[in-house]
Amino acid sequence: MTTRIQDSLSSFIKEFKGVILFDEPMSRHTSFRIGGPSEAIVFPGNEDDLLKIFSFIRRKKVPLFMLGEGTNILVGDRGIRGVVVSLSSKFAGNCFKSIVTVKEDARSVYLYAGAGIALAKLLRYTTEKGISGLEFTAGIPGSLGGAVIMNAGSYGKEMGEVIDSVRILDHNAKIKELPAEDISFHYRYARIPAVAVLGAVLRLTKGDTEKIRNTIKENLIRKKNTQPLDKPSAGSVFKNPTGMRAWQLIDSVGLRGTCIGNARVSEKHPNFIVNNGGAKARDVLSLIRQIGHKVEYKTGVTLELEVKIIGT
Ligand SMILES: Cc1cc2nc3c(=O)[nH]c(=O)nc-3n(C[C@H](O)[C@H](O)[C@H](O)COP(=O)(O)OP(=O)(O)OC[C@H]3O[C@@H](n4cnc5c(N)ncnc54)[C@H](O)[C@@H]3O)c2cc1C
Repeated sequence: MTTRIQDSLSSFIKEFKGVILFDEPMSRHTSFRIGGPSEAIVFPGNEDDLLKIFSFIRRKKVPLFMLGEGTNILVGDRGIRGVVVSLSSKFAGNCFKSIVTVKEDARSVYLYAGAGIALAKLLRYTTEKGISGLEFTAGIPGSLGGAVIMNAGSYGKEMGEVIDSVRILDHNAKIKELPAEDISFHYRYARIPAVAVLGAVLRLTKGDTEKIRNTIKENLIRKKNTQPLDKPSAGSVFKNPTGMRAWQLIDSVGLRGTCIGNARVSEKHPNFIVNNGGAKARDVLSLIRQIGHKVEYKTGVTLELEVKIIGT
C-alpha cells in the first residue's frame, strides 16, 4: 500500500473512536470470501468519526468506497485503492445500528433504522413487535444501507415500497433527510444523491406476529430450496432481463455447473456463482464474461450485472 494514506490516517487515528485496519484482505468482509486488500478500511465509532473521515477523504482526494456487509460485491484480487468505509459489522459504532419508533397510529408504524443494522436483525425486531412490511427481506443478507442503495427485493416487493425517507451524508458533508419522493427507485438500484446512507425511516404496518412468522418461514424455505446457501456467493450475479429469468437463460446455453478455477456456476441456481474454496476474483470474472458472451451469442439477450465489481 501507499504509505501516504497509512501515515496520514495513523496521525488521525489518535482522535478516532472507531476502528481502522490497513492492508485488510477484503475476503474477510465479503460474502464471496474473495478480494485483495483495501489500503484502509474504516469503521466509524460515531457520526463525529464519520464526518472526520469524510473530511480527510475530501482533503486528501483519496478514493472512497462505502461498504455494507459486502454481500453484493466482487472485489478484485489486487484489492481496493483508497479508503473503504463501513457502518456495518461489529467494529462500527452502535449508533449506526439503532432502531427507533418515529411515530405510530392505530394502523401504521414509522421506524428509523441505522444503515449499519443487518436486515435480518431488523426483521427479527419487527417480527417480535408485530410490525409487518419487511417479511419480503427474509433471507436477503446484508445491511439496511446496502439494501436501500440496491433497492433490494424479493417475491415482488422491494425496499423502495417501504421507505419514507433516507438520512444521508451529502456531497457537501451535510447530514440531511431525503424524502422518498426525491429518490428514484429502479430494479436493484436507487438513485440517491449522497456519499453515504446513514439510515432510513420505514413505513410499516401493525400486524400479527404469528402471521408474520409464517410468511417469513415460507420465504426462507423457498430460498433454501432454490439457492446454494451452503457456499459463499454474492447472490444473483445478473439482473433478470424484462420478462425473463437470468438463471433460465444461463441454463439454456448449457452453463449450469461450469467451473473456472474454484469458481462454479451453481448447479442449484445457475444465476449464482459460488466459491468452492479459494476461488479468485479473476476466476469469477472469467465465468461472468463466458456467461455474458454465450447468452448473448445464443439468445441475443445482453445480461446486465447485479453484482458490483469493485477494485482491480
Ligand atoms: C445468498 C444471497 C442471497 C441474496 N438474495 C438477494 C435477494 O433475494 N434480493 C436482493 O435484492 N438481493 C439479494 N442478495 C444481494 C445482497 O444481499 C443485497 O444486494 C444486499 O442488499 C446488499 O447489502 P450489503 O450491506 O451487503 O451491501 P454491499 O454488498 O456491501 O454493497 C452494495 C452496494 O451498496 C453500497 N452501500 C452499502 N452500504 C452503503 C451505505 N451505508 N451508504 C452508501 N452506499 C452503501 C455499496 O457501495 C455498494 O454499491 C443476496 C446475496 C446473497 C449472498
